[in-house]
Amino acid sequence: MIFRKREVMGNLMGGIDLHVHTNQSDGELPPAEVVRRAAGMGLRAVSITDHDCSDGLAEAMAAGVEHGIEVIPGVELSVRHGGFEQVHLLGYFVDQRNPDLENHLTELRDSRLGRGKRLVQKINQKLAQEGLPLIDFAQVEKLANKVISRPHIAKVMTDMGVTPSMPEAFRKYLVPLNIQKHKLGFEEAVNAVKKAGGIPVLAHPNLITADRREQIRLLDDFTRAGLKGLEVYYNNMTERDTEHYRVLALERNLLLTGGSDFHGFNNVYGNLGRVHGGRVVPEELLNPLKESYFQNRKVLVACGGFRSESAEKVLDSICMLTGADRIDGRAVAQGFPRVDPQSPQGLHMDIAIKRIVVLESELKLLRGKSAAVFCRYLDRKSALDLAAVASRCGADFALVLGPESASAVEGSESTAVVLNPESGTAAPYAGTSRNTLSNLLYFTLRG
Ligand code: AMP
Ligand code: MN
Ligand code: MN
Ligand code: MN
Repeated sequence: MIFRKREVMGNLMGGIDLHVHTNQSDGELPPAEVVRRAAGMGLRAVSITDHDCSDGLAEAMAAGVEHGIEVIPGVELSVRHGGFEQVHLLGYFVDQRNPDLENHLTELRDSRLGRGKRLVQKINQKLAQEGLPLIDFAQVEKLANKVISRPHIAKVMTDMGVTPSMPEAFRKYLVPLNIQKHKLGFEEAVNAVKKAGGIPVLAHPNLITADRREQIRLLDDFTRAGLKGLEVYYNNMTERDTEHYRVLALERNLLLTGGSDFHGFNNVYGNLGRVHGGRVVPEELLNPLKESYFQNRKVLVACGGFRSESAEKVLDSICMLTGADRIDGRAVAQGFPRVDPQSPQGLHMDIAIKRIVVLESELKLLRGKSAAVFCRYLDRKSALDLAAVASRCGADFALVLGPESASAVEGSESTAVVLNPESGTAAPYAGTSRNTLSNLLYFTLRG
């Protein structure tokens, strides 16, 4: 009974958390477990932003579909810039299968291995002088998945009883003896995020430097280099800090984001779903982020298999979100009806009509705009036609389908969302959890 009450209160709290780590980098919990907890707290969305790693995203997104919480694929990259220690770039809505990003991440992780070994050697020298037991690097490797980080070393030292706590391990060994890891230049990191379709956001500006004039100088440099957003809610930012960074962001036309930097480990870094003073990050920050995702890309969205009233609603919300021009395949089709005895509806779009639809959407896409097409009877063949148009125009392609056209999904596996207009709900298609675009559409349409 008490549990029920807490759950209801949690749900009322809402909020989002756009900065969270899992055991795929230096966090404690597996991605699915983090997502399950976030859903249990009633958060509306959570972004997994592991350091130098996108491997947890597929698991997290699948868990998001299962638990009904939007999971935004993210990443956190460390940046080399003017000797500052904590210049970190978050990338939201990155496509985890982008080869360019993956190459960067692999390189960053590879260099962490050698650095971790050398750091443990250095610490062991000090431990030997102090007459304390030495760290076995194999233990560190065992604890880490792919991203060998200082918290893993701190955890091993604490478990061994060499230090009383992880922060103490940092204070006494991992900070003074630190060895720089390989980092990307700022523009390099921004471009890697952008190439993967993501939105580059500067993490925790308050940790970079306390000097506010310096912060402004950095922010101006970064904005010129393509930064799109600023983290203005963070675990140790007071309400006044948030207001300060919010003004800096708005002056530079940057998006606002926020998150806890949760790592597990008894919340020593951040508390899932909460920032300073137990506040939540407002969920209103999410839609501008999504709209920005669509701003510099071309998306061809084809809707089919709806009754018309549902289609109107779906198309309107897609056009609003994506900035797409709407091309009404149905209106085009009306001039050319053809009776098809095979079709229960008695009507069938013939080849000529499909060509017109394709041509129109192609024109819009070539002008650099997203387009949304309504096709009354979207079958597998027309889905494939539209996918071909999308790829010719360098556009992403997404299908939004009613149950009658669900078979078209077979043709375009990874980008479909299946809607049930009868009940007004979206049903996840298997590909939803693997594809950034269809995941985003699914959770937006689902409401
Ligand atoms: P690394 O990427 O291996 O240099 O490790 C950096 C990570 O260690 C950060 O992302 C934090 O999770 C954690 N960290 C950094 N500084 C401290 C500190 N002073 N105390 C505790 N944890 C820290
Ligand atoms: Mn970390
Ligand atoms: Mn960081
Ligand atoms: Mn972080």
